[in-house]
Amino acid sequence: MPARSLLVVGSLAFDTLETPSGHAADELGGSATYFSHSSAWLAPEVRLVGVVGKDFPKRHIVEFRDRGIDVSGIQVEGRGKTFRWHGRYGKDMNNAETVSVELNVFGKFEPKIPAPFRKSPFVFLATGSPRTQRAVLSQVDRPKFVLADTMNLWIETERPALLDLVHDVDGLILNNSELLQLSGEPNVVAGARWALAQGPSVVVVKKGEHGAMLFTEEAVCALPAYPLERIVDPTGAGDSFAGGFMGHLARAGSVTMQEMKRALVYGTVLASFACEDFGLRRLFGLSNREIESRVEEFAKVVSVDLDGRNARRRRK
Ligand code: AMP
Repeated sequence: MPARSLLVVGSLAFDTLETPSGHAADELGGSATYFSHSSAWLAPEVRLVGVVGKDFPKRHIVEFRDRGIDVSGIQVEGRGKTFRWHGRYGKDMNNAETVSVELNVFGKFEPKIPAPFRKSPFVFLATGSPRTQRAVLSQVDRPKFVLADTMNLWIETERPALLDLVHDVDGLILNNSELLQLSGEPNVVAGARWALAQGPSVVVVKKGEHGAMLFTEEAVCALPAYPLERIVDPTGAGDSFAGGFMGHLARAGSVTMQEMKRALVYGTVLASFACEDFGLRRLFGLSNREIESRVEEFAKVVSVDLDGRNARRRRK
């Protein structure tokens, strides 16, 4: 179903994770990994492009395939090692401290988009060097909707290339502090207005446990996070959110405001699952029934009965 296919390009990694709930070493991670395993619950066809070293176990490739993810764009660099990230969370689970990064084969990643992937209508540029993200844009054939993620590292080190990229994408997704850093504005609304003026028609701002906001020229939409009492590991929540968001849009095949609002709900729900266990463990053990029942529950959390209030006003 190429009209609804979703291409993701980004990191595949081994993570060492420290959170107040515990510790996990050599856990499968990476922005494209979280995104693809999250979006594959919704999108009919997910196409993954990334790079791994010779140390990347075959079983993870099998796990992607088992979820229906097309892995023909994974490049294996026989002479290098897979990207490694070590992150630590204190009591504030909204912000990770990067303890160490070993870029390894990801440092020289030159994405090659396989010919059958180039016509993907939905494209997610997971966080990475804006030059690498640009290299993807130059290989795809007029997609319907391109969403780009970024992070503080690229805002600090490759700002001109990043601004250049932002100009040419349809949507930008980033977290609250990154938006303020990128825009230089004092609050998220002013920051989003600034970002919209740079080119994209949609800006999605992730606010950790405080939810997410979506801005277009005409509308603003805000949702809380799904109310989770215990967060085990927030790693990958942002990428799982983006996976739920883009997975829903690809499934719908359309990017209307109504579909984007629904997509925000799926993003929120997939991100909440990702936080319930280390790494991707919870995303692996999910079912469509669980996802839909949490979507229903979340819809109750966010519904506001303005109609009832208006009806009472009319009766007066
Ligand atoms: P998130 O928590 O959604 O921001 O994503 C966390 C994932 O991003 C982890 O699995 C890391 O392996 C990966 N990651 C961390 N730093 C980088 C980086 N500089 N470039 C690409 N991926 C990264």
